[in-house]
This record gives sequence, C-alpha cells and structure tokens, in this order.
Amino acid sequence: MTDSQESDITTQSFLEVIKDLHSQYKSLSEGKVANYIPELAKLNPNLFSICIVTVDGEIYEVGDYQQLFTIQSISKVFVYGQALEDHGKDYVLTRVGVEPTGDAFNAIILDEKSKRPYNPMVNAGAIATTSLIKGNGATEKLNRLLEMYKRYIGRDVFVDISVFTSERSTGHRNRATAHLMLNFGMIDQNIEEALDLYFQQCSVLVTCKDLAVMAATLANKGVNPITKEKAIDSQYIKDILSVMYTCGMYNFAGEWAYKVGIPAKSGVCGGIIAVVPGKMGIGVFSPLLDMRGNSVRGVKVCEELSHRLGLHLFESGKNS
Ligand code: GLN
Repeated sequence: MTDSQESDITTQSFLEVIKDLHSQYKSLSEGKVANYIPELAKLNPNLFSICIVTVDGEIYEVGDYQQLFTIQSISKVFVYGQALEDHGKDYVLTRVGVEPTGDAFNAIILDEKSKRPYNPMVNAGAIATTSLIKGNGATEKLNRLLEMYKRYIGRDVFVDISVFTSERSTGHRNRATAHLMLNFGMIDQNIEEALDLYFQQCSVLVTCKDLAVMAATLANKGVNPITKEKAIDSQYIKDILSVMYTCGMYNFAGEWAYKVGIPAKSGVCGGIIAVVPGKMGIGVFSPLLDMRGNSVRGVKVCEELSHRLGLHLFESGKNS
C-alpha cells in the first residue's frame, strides 16, 4: 500500500468514525442542561456536534457544528496560557498550583499551606489566573483576551452579553471564592474587575469547529493549523497540556486519564476539547451534563474515539 492510499483510508475513517459516533449517541438523553447560570437553561438539549481538526488543517465535522454557544470553562486553558506568556511560569506558580483537587469545579477551597488555589482549571484557580492578565484597565484586558481567542480560532469573537450579565448577577459562589483569595493575598484588591473579566472570558461565543481548531492549535505547538498564525509561545504548550491532563475534567480527571488518556477540558455549556499532541484537536458539543459538569455525550464520544483511533497517550504501538 502506498503512503497516499494509507492516508486516504485514515482521512475517510475519521469522518466515518465521527458520523458513526454521532448517530450512536444522539438518542442518549441522560444528564441535565446547566441552570445555575439562568441564561444557560435556555440551551436546546438536543444539540450535538463532533469535529476533528488535524495539525495539517484537515477538518471533519458532523451534527450542529455551526451552532454558537459559550465557551465557559474551556476558556481557562487559553487564559492560563496568556498568564504564562504575561508573567512566566515561575511567577504564575506562586499564584496558582498544579494539583488536581478531586473536588467539584466550583469548590471554595485553597491549598491549606500555600493558600494558592489548587490549579488553573477549577474556578478558584481560573479567577486567580484571570486576575494576572496584563492590561491598562478593564477594556484593554478584555481586548487582549479577545485578540488571543482570535489567534487560536482565526476569526473575531464576541461576548454573549446575556450570558455574561446572567452569570455576573448570579455568580455569588465565584464572588465568595474571589473574596477568600483576596483575604489570603492571592489576588489583588480589584476583584470585581477580575470577576467581570472571568465572566466575559467564559461568555465568548464559539462553535464546535472553533473548539477543534483551538485544540488543534495546542496539538500543533501553538500554531493555528488553518491560518498558520502563532497563537502562543510553544514553550508553554507542555505546561498547559499537563494541567489539562491532570485537572481538566475536574473530579473525573483520573478516570478520564485512565480511559481516554489525552489532555482535555470541559465547560458547563456542554463543550469538550481534547488534544492529541502532534496529531489533532477534537471538539464535542452536547449540553446535557453529568453530576460533575461534564457533557454526557461528550465524554462517551471521547472514550470511543480514543479507543477506535488508538489515541491514549500511553497506548504503545498504535499511536506512533
Ligand atoms: N462560568 C462558569 C462558572 O464559573 C464556568 C464553569 C464551567 O464551565 N465548569 O461557573
């Protein structure tokens, strides 16, 4: 078999596999749409899409892949990258740890000894990370984050104002977390500005394809495989992927690492990104969530994809 025949088969099978998984799981109706942010309760529970983008820029998509939804916690990955670029790894480590919590994403806890939030993938750590974004005032900081998203996605992005204001007016748990961190000097005085920026970064509208392109950019050493633009300094990719691997799926992170075996991150709108370094980015969107706040269909699709395509990082032989 020639090389080109081989790659044709791989290419064809990516599309076939995701079409197959889409029809296999579209009737799965377990889980609930997030409603603690009132605006998110309006999401159509039937929406479902899967997308793969390879590091060569090939795109495979199925389902509602043009549907916009808010990125929510998936933003934490990219804002962490921006904080690393703004301050370097050593300083960021003094403000946010890299230990998995085993607790819910919105748990109001800090590390007993260091008083740092445990990691940048849970809310406490993400709010601390957001407070590190450089900029002269709120508008410049938001614009820097929107520019950052643009590099990863390849188009202008917008904040969904309804979702932002909905979370801003009900996000008392996040506000409490920020006050606890202020008490221990982990974030500075201006916590309302940091919270607003955090709620805005979570309210950026994306499609499932956008998620896959963002994931593929991380898989491609920080270079967007479609536009070829550099989104982040490649030296930080390993830091980002490491915390995604150990903490990205919250209190499901261990089981995810065991079963799926690739760095990933979920959001309460129902999005999941997964990164296969040097190969591809995966985006899945389905708003029905399990008890831990991860998309039910999204988790199933990634488990199956990993199994069928041999993506687990420690599965020797298949993934070479
Ligand atoms: N904006 C949401 C919150 O802070 C994000 C949570 C999530 O996606 N897990 O609660």
